Amino acid sequence: MQEVLVLGAGYAGLKTVRNLQKQAGDFHITLVDRNDYHYEATELHEVAAGSQPKEKISYPIRDVINPKKVTFIQDDVVKVNPEESTVELKNSGTLHYDYVVVSLGFCSETFGISGAKENALQMVDINTAENIHNHILHMMEKYRETKDKNYLRLLICGAGFTGIELAGALVDERKRYAKLAGVAEDQIEIICLEAATRILPMFDDKLAQYGVDLIQKLGVNLMLGSMIKEIKPGEVVYVTSPDENAERHSIDAETIIWTTGVSGSPIMGESGFAERRGRVVVNKDLRDPKYDKVYILGDVSALIDPETNRPFPTTAQIATRMGAHAAKNLARQLNGEKTEDFNYKSLGTVASVGNTHAFGLVGKSKVKGYPASVVKKSIMNKSLVDIGGLKELLAKGRFDLYH
Ligand code: NAD
Repeated sequence: MQEVLVLGAGYAGLKTVRNLQKQAGDFHITLVDRNDYHYEATELHEVAAGSQPKEKISYPIRDVINPKKVTFIQDDVVKVNPEESTVELKNSGTLHYDYVVVSLGFCSETFGISGAKENALQMVDINTAENIHNHILHMMEKYRETKDKNYLRLLICGAGFTGIELAGALVDERKRYAKLAGVAEDQIEIICLEAATRILPMFDDKLAQYGVDLIQKLGVNLMLGSMIKEIKPGEVVYVTSPDENAERHSIDAETIIWTTGVSGSPIMGESGFAERRGRVVVNKDLRDPKYDKVYILGDVSALIDPETNRPFPTTAQIATRMGAHAAKNLARQLNGEKTEDFNYKSLGTVASVGNTHAFGLVGKSKVKGYPASVVKKSIMNKSLVDIGGLKELLAKGRFDLYH
């Protein structure tokens, strides 16, 4: 019997398993993840702000796999040895594979900025997101004791999609924080520091400006052209000019959240794959260029967009679609057939700003405001159906399209 090993139960890995387990054939699947649950990484900002409990964005992996076809192992992947067709796990020894799907996801990128790891809060998984919410609540209590305004200041580093969506979610929850601190809502300061002078490069000037105006109108202090140089305990140091000797400015804040970008898992480099920032440029059929029994999907892969000649941005949408395609190609390979190329066309990119605002592109059309928010929720619910199934969607009670 042939063995298919899937590493990581995020959007790409779990979708591969969900689709492949439905195929007939003489093969077995082993899925490995460090957690025994799948979580929606695109909703972490809601857990961080406290607008959703972690249970709403996660579900047990065992709920969605077929135990007759799939064995689940909860463990940490240490290294892939593509020359030997083996994978080393932290506690469960070494596994052999005939085919492997590497879908180990992202980690936070600090670009070597001093103090970012130690002195800023990360938002990379359920636990770190929940930690941010608990931290904010604790800071509100500290304000009550000390009346020090730094405890009321929430500072986000980086205004990419993650930073903007987090800022919107924090705005939605500001009232609750203010009540805890015993202050008026507008005393809770939400600041977002961004190096670029123009946010979200994938949108045209007008749409990006709409996003800027929207979050500023909601009361977020978006500081563009502010390049963070260092994070000290409770202090962000930045410059407003690229000049080497530019004057350094700083802002004190007891809540500093790091969202300046992501890279693929460091295991890609440690396993000897040809990677850059943890991402491997894959063939059109999603396999590694050197190892034809290795599929690389999601945030650890870089698939070149033939239109721009640059890698597609890493999103949940592309990861899920890659998972579906890899399952198809694996089924073909297991049957001795040739693989097919993956053709990707994005359905759209929408950033939500709190529960009722959003903006983005669907196809070539711009969507804004409340309708965009409905579109975004539909995309999210679609991903829950795609990977978890309808049962999971209903169990999560996430059908709140009308807010
Ligand atoms: P990102 O790389 O897209 O954005 C990071 C931002 O931080 C950039 O604007 C960058 O200029 C800024 N930055 C970097 N270093 C800085 C510094 N030293 N000082 C100040 N600013 C700095 O990262 P992300 O927002 O985490 O997104 C990661 C990926 O996930 C992207 O591909 C994104 O498209 C995707 N994503 C998509 C959605 C969605 O579709 N709704 C939501 C979240 C993330």
